Amino acid sequence: MITDLVQIQRLGEKLLEENKRLRTHMKTHPVADRRLRRIAEEVENAIDCTQCANCCRVATASVRDREIDTLAKFIGVTRKVFLRDYVEESEEEGLILKRTEKGCIFLEGNLCGVYEARPKTCNDFPHLVRGEGSLIARMWHMPDRATYCPIAFHTLEAFKDESGFARSK
Ligand code: SF4
Ligand code: SF4
Repeated sequence: MITDLVQIQRLGEKLLEENKRLRTHMKTHPVADRRLRRIAEEVENAIDCTQCANCCRVATASVRDREIDTLAKFIGVTRKVFLRDYVEESEEEGLILKRTEKGCIFLEGNLCGVYEARPKTCNDFPHLVRGEGSLIARMWHMPDRATYCPIAFHTLEAFKDESGFARSK
């Protein structure tokens, strides 16, 4: 299974339109959510996220109000200090964790410095096995995620096989 991020980006971008087509195809050729989750789980289990961490570099991490308290407590600062030093407001996503040139402010090498207290969105990423709403509804974001996340990329490829999708030549 390819995990090299340069190759994943090249392949994900090459298949971007095809992956958008898959999204539409899966709406009209439904496969049970349980089955899709199982497929995604198999891919997730085959890939070691600690060798990757690309989502922490590329994607923003939104943070919910109650998660702010958990994170502040975890790193030993007050909520006020946490909001000032670790959180910023994004127009589209609301509160998100601050970022440096390396990605999320809590990224340490390939590891999360607040792993035990990380926001739900980080725990759920890439939102295939876990996430809110049906997996089909979450498919909206997957073509883009497949350009930088090996799990998303390979899961979409497996979904193509499972749903009888006709790949572009
Ligand atoms: S979820 Fe995807 S992008 Fe994030 S570390 Fe795992 S394989 Fe990499
Ligand atoms: S909180 Fe941790 S898991 Fe979430 S983006 Fe930051 S480094 Fe990654």
